[in-house]
Amino acid sequence: MPPAEHMTLADIRPRTRQELELAAAIAGIPKALVHNHLDGSIPAEIVLKLAKERDVEFSFPEKDRLGNPSPRHGEAIDSPDKLRELWGGWGTYDIVDQFSATTSLMQTRECIIAMTQEYVKSLQKQNILYVETRFAPQYCTQQGLSLDESVAAALEGLKRGSAETGVRTALIVCIGRESDVETGLEIAETALAYQHKGVVALDLACWEVPYPPELHAKAFEATLGSDLKRTVHAGEMCSTQEENLRNIFTALRVLHADGIGHAIPLPARTYGAVHDLWKMFKEGNVRLESNPISNLTLGSISDARVLELNTLANNGILVTINDDDPKMWRNGELACNLYAVARMHGTDFLKQVIANPVRAAFGLSEKEKENLAAKMEFA
Ligand SMILES: [Zn+2]
Repeated sequence: MPPAEHMTLADIRPRTRQELELAAAIAGIPKALVHNHLDGSIPAEIVLKLAKERDVEFSFPEKDRLGNPSPRHGEAIDSPDKLRELWGGWGTYDIVDQFSATTSLMQTRECIIAMTQEYVKSLQKQNILYVETRFAPQYCTQQGLSLDESVAAALEGLKRGSAETGVRTALIVCIGRESDVETGLEIAETALAYQHKGVVALDLACWEVPYPPELHAKAFEATLGSDLKRTVHAGEMCSTQEENLRNIFTALRVLHADGIGHAIPLPARTYGAVHDLWKMFKEGNVRLESNPISNLTLGSISDARVLELNTLANNGILVTINDDDPKMWRNGELACNLYAVARMHGTDFLKQVIANPVRAAFGLSEKEKENLAAKMEFA
């Protein structure tokens, strides 16, 4: 099959017999991923089932993302298709409203546990053997849970899900970057308290433009010298390439990142003409957590070829392919992301990126990496 010359949103669905066979093969092989958000990864059926059991009802938001009255305001969200309509309404609804059904349930220990456990079961169905999932405990405190209790509940859910399915799991704790410095530090301290109990890293997530990485330097500094790794969403949302490159550089230099989520303009290689970001990635053994379909869906790019993932890998950068928020848009699952990169860069590249999340895992010892890689057909 010749490589795809472009990979737009219209191209990510397989059509020809050969493409369908490739997609089916990818769906069937054992996989791993290191960048996805718990609250964007729960199947609609599960969210509605958990809500029903708790007498919680959802409806479409009052306002659209621009603050105008929403045409469907008040309409009940009583079917998985309707919930997926809200989730898929990028450009129509506010992101907070899109995530609100899921996060409104993540307010009690027992619901976080149930949701997380179901999440692990959904990974098993996708043949995912290892995951580092992430969530921001600051969004789980509306009904009185503490940061500590939210993290403990998510870990318990992962533990139960793993026991039931055999899927190996680890947790990354996110700071929602709009929080103030003290809250960021408190979240880092919570993550540190669980560093040997399932939490493997601290992350900085959400709106990048008004909240550059250095705002939370203190929180990230607090993890230096610990066993926690650091990963940062950077180079995803800014309006200019230079700002995106700046945030990647700052995340590496100031926040001492071991992983960078997105880093869309990384093919440009240098920031400010003098800082060689590729060299920083290689020397720091930093993993790139790429999320191609997320970038296409949110409009950061219109063709995934601009990510030049093969060029980055050929130059020694540890490229991982991930699904970010797989339930928040169509064709979001890991297998679809892997299909997109296989069509662009071929099966040798696919084999490499299938194995890379295990090589780059924060939550596995060298021996565990070896054992897991042996179970993965392409590794
Ligand atoms: Zn993300």
